[in-house]
Amino acid sequence: MNNIELIDTLEKTGHLDKEQWVQLFDTFTDDDRAYAAQKASAAAVAQFGKSIFIRGIVEFSNVCKNDCLYCGIRKSNANCERYRLTKEQILDCCDAGYEYGFRTFVLQSGEDKSYSTDTLCDIVASIKKAHPDCAVTLSVGELEYDDYKRLFDAGADRYLLRHETADEQHYGKLHPSEMSWAHRMKCLEQLKEIGYQTGCGMMVGSPFQTSEHLAQDMLFLERFKPQMIGMGPFLPHKDTPFKDEPAGSYELTLFLISLCRLMLPDCLIPATTALGTIRPDGREKGVLAGANVIMPNLSPIDVRKKYLLYDGKICTGDESAQCRACLERRMESIGYKVVITRGDHKSYDKDSSLR
Ligand code: SAH
Repeated sequence: MNNIELIDTLEKTGHLDKEQWVQLFDTFTDDDRAYAAQKASAAAVAQFGKSIFIRGIVEFSNVCKNDCLYCGIRKSNANCERYRLTKEQILDCCDAGYEYGFRTFVLQSGEDKSYSTDTLCDIVASIKKAHPDCAVTLSVGELEYDDYKRLFDAGADRYLLRHETADEQHYGKLHPSEMSWAHRMKCLEQLKEIGYQTGCGMMVGSPFQTSEHLAQDMLFLERFKPQMIGMGPFLPHKDTPFKDEPAGSYELTLFLISLCRLMLPDCLIPATTALGTIRPDGREKGVLAGANVIMPNLSPIDVRKKYLLYDGKICTGDESAQCRACLERRMESIGYKVVITRGDHKSYDKDSSLR
């Protein structure tokens, strides 16, 4: 089959074989990409209309016990100036975000064990109490089943934990030996089992990544059926072992967004900050390739430059209100509208019956 036929097959059946994925990744052209983007954006519009869901991210701590080789806030980066937000500061960010129309708050951090599960439960419950019409998403890394369950019971609705790569050997090249691919995958299974709307995803073009790895990622996503998929290009950070590695491909990232949309049509797929960093109009192009979510920053302005996972990150100098306005304009420029709603995955959308 040629690539166009493969894209048609994916759209019809939601499945390709491993060799077919590899063929696509090895040989896709700009025309193949445009064809996939056109089909994928039509699929997204069929699901969501021309509406874009927004999530406000609060990056509440850049302290991390891990040493991921790609990440700018890794433990060994002595040049990273560390910070932690208090519960009050986090709540203030959410209050401000609510005024700007955010109905989902994403709490993201390094793996900072100074926030106990009790503390995090208290923060989640406080946000839900102040804003019962909002969803809370956590993105705080690998925990144990019990912790995930308690956080869910405290009111957390969703959890983002990128699998990074579905290949164990590849995972081993991106992470120190203390970190376990099997544990990360187990976390994802547990999150889903507990009832979180669960997001996974991978960096595109991370060092040592091959087309076979990406094929494995697609087969994993097909089997796991996450409610959310976060993908962005790998971008080097100057204070990491991968500082001289090339950035991931913008085109391949867009192509993957389209392919994920065709495989899992109702999935929530963000046009990520990394995509907006590698190209000024990356997020707009992400939406036109099939993404339906944008996740701007709600962190206090004085900490934004300290949460640098990679070099060149955009929006570190703008107030939240500016980010929000800029986004609205960007989406309108391509004929889309930012909507004020929780934006749940459709299988969880209980309309007004709030958890
Ligand atoms: N500590 C949490 C979340 C923070 S990192 C966790 O472990 O899930 C969020 C995501 O940023 C990571 O999953 C990774 O995919 C991405 N990321 C980290 N460093 C990056 C880099 N140099 N380039 C692109 N994306 C990166």
